[in-house]
Amino acid sequence: MKLIPIPAFNDNYIWMLHDGHRALVVDPGDAQPVLAALTQHELTLDSILVTHHHGDHTGGVDVLRQRTGAQVYGPATEDMPEPLRRLVNGDVITLLGLRLEVLLVPGHTTGHIAYWGQVPGADPVLFCGDTLFSAGCGRLFEGTPAQMLASLTRLAALPDATRVCCAHEYTLGSLRFALAVEPDNADLLAYQKHAQALRQQLLPTLPSSIGLEKAVNPFLRTHLPSLVHAVQQIDPNAHDPVAVFAALRTWKDKF
Ligand code: ZN
Ligand code: FE
Repeated sequence: MKLIPIPAFNDNYIWMLHDGHRALVVDPGDAQPVLAALTQHELTLDSILVTHHHGDHTGGVDVLRQRTGAQVYGPATEDMPEPLRRLVNGDVITLLGLRLEVLLVPGHTTGHIAYWGQVPGADPVLFCGDTLFSAGCGRLFEGTPAQMLASLTRLAALPDATRVCCAHEYTLGSLRFALAVEPDNADLLAYQKHAQALRQQLLPTLPSSIGLEKAVNPFLRTHLPSLVHAVQQIDPNAHDPVAVFAALRTWKDKF
């Protein structure tokens, strides 16, 4: 199985997983780069997975469905390009011989889902859309801080080796904020160097991993005393976990 991030728009990735013959793609906001990749690698598009309703994740679905006949999957409760198979939390789908579990992860949008699966002979994959970014998380457009904290806690409980396939290349910007929160985090400093080197060569910083994110991502670290302390320098009233998380997200929004 090959995992490829297909760049789209300014900073989106449309993730493609293929076995040399058949492929699935996640969040095709644009059909054109997907069609080009299918031609380049001589692949048939089997399925299209969508994480949430935003246009930069759904814009290419109709054209791809028409051109390839691929089956579309998406969240049960969001406005989606029809027809599609609607998925709820706990659903399991088998695609390209791969068993993918559906996790409801509200916060960025209220019906946002993620897909997690074991890959034979390789590390597991997580397609998390705009919920978890490397060193960051999605903005709370529809959900509450409590929902997003619960969603991220759920993702953090996945195996450390899980390859985190986020839908945006936001890593360097997220790292600047993460270092404002934790200037002395050695893992964070090392990761920034690594990520800068990749971007200088125009290479993706993704996929990341759950193990790495637990070490560098402030939004997965709000339970740590050092993080609570840093957040309270900005918002002295942030005490319980949800308030600390909310204050951290607000801090980032204004950063
Ligand atoms: Zn989005
Ligand atoms: Fe997006």
